[in-house]
Amino acid sequence: MIAAMSADRRFSIDAATGLLAGVRQVLSPHYDERPGGAVPDLIVVHGISLPPGEFGGPWIDRLFTGNLPPDEHPYFKDVAGRRVSAHALIRRTGEIVQYVPFGERAWHAGNSEYQGRSACNDFSIGIEIEGEDDRPYEEAQYVSLNALIEALLDTYPALSRERIVGHSEIAPGRKTDPGPAFDWKRLA
Ligand SMILES: [Zn+2]
Repeated sequence: MIAAMSADRRFSIDAATGLLAGVRQVLSPHYDERPGGAVPDLIVVHGISLPPGEFGGPWIDRLFTGNLPPDEHPYFKDVAGRRVSAHALIRRTGEIVQYVPFGERAWHAGNSEYQGRSACNDFSIGIEIEGEDDRPYEEAQYVSLNALIEALLDTYPALSRERIVGHSEIAPGRKTDPGPAFDWKRLA
């Protein structure tokens, strides 16, 4: 039922606010303006689970809003102080959560380079898929991701299907996500 509903789901983005209609918004303080009036022309796909290998908890929201309790899990000590975010997260169920308006700069890529341009946060949109490098992503996640990409392409003309990359591609040697489990052929 949920899969069938999301299969014909279409999203729309308000170009003025950069917000995706009809999804849960958990707005993060971890963002700023894109420098020099840059517009997004690259989509970066990430994989994330928090703590690693566990799905469905509140911790990704908490990390991206600067609220992760360092004592809740041994892994959190390392990451709790990081000022990071992404524009959106797609949970295992296909639910989309938005943290940063798409027109603003989210802090997801870190040290990165794409086609000779560094600092990919400046010109990219970061989408986290809840998962792990070696564990198959869910059907519902591909459905939501394709619908989200469709809405992004409709709203930001500099984006294109040819310019969608994994985090590992723009930060090789440092990042491995979304990993070999992510099936690029599933992007429509
Ligand atoms: Zn990543």
